[in-house]
Amino acid sequence: MHVFKSLMDLIYPPRCPVCSEFLQQTVDENGFGFCKTCFEGFTEITSPVCPTCGRPFVTTEGGDHHCEACLRKRPFFDIARAPYLYHGPLMSAIHAFKYSGKSSLGNPLGMLLSSFSKPWLEAMTDLLVMPVPLHPKRLRERGFNQSLLLARHVASGLGSELDFLSLRRVRYTKPQIGLKSDERQKNVRGAFEVMDRSAVNERSIVLVDDVATTGSTLNDCARALKRAGAKEVYALVLARTRTG
Ligand SMILES: [Zn+2]
Ligand SMILES: [Zn+2]
Repeated sequence: MHVFKSLMDLIYPPRCPVCSEFLQQTVDENGFGFCKTCFEGFTEITSPVCPTCGRPFVTTEGGDHHCEACLRKRPFFDIARAPYLYHGPLMSAIHAFKYSGKSSLGNPLGMLLSSFSKPWLEAMTDLLVMPVPLHPKRLRERGFNQSLLLARHVASGLGSELDFLSLRRVRYTKPQIGLKSDERQKNVRGAFEVMDRSAVNERSIVLVDDVATTGSTLNDCARALKRAGAKEVYALVLARTRTG
């Protein structure tokens, strides 16, 4: 297998999936398959953030504190976290992944999310990993659920169970792009349902998605999961916006 991979690398040298630059071996190992320039262009989210929804504040001063939205109304998820801001080369990668059918990007992006999830969630036992589901119509259009491809890596990294059937998107919703915060909330409200309550009852769920802006999709999934008896919901997304 190793010899075969080396041979393939010689014939088809691996390229960065964002900018198509040829990869150097050393960078390949540390950069999850992205070139040095692109990988260094991924902006890590650092404190201060909201301890509940993970929203990063513009200021770099002071400690973590609750954002206005969470103070006003606590979300249904317990904690949401994202390693990166949704912009620059990571945004390009996620766009190519979702909208240009580059499902192969699920591997480097999934490994990236998995490595972020470990220090946070590894010590917890009996976690159940669930991707944010797509509506069957959208799934037919896209051919794959990008969140499921990410969730597979997260589940195997944590050694946890993966369930991509019990939570369903039962209402076909407009894409969230271009909608205002309150419109987004309305757009996804009641869009998700738990088909098998016994699968999530008393469980600690890791809910996986690719991008969060207002967090209304995560919140609506978490609402359905909590109503079906889930003990805790930890939302894990690859990238999020600063505002929303
Ligand atoms: Zn690149
Ligand atoms: Zn918050």
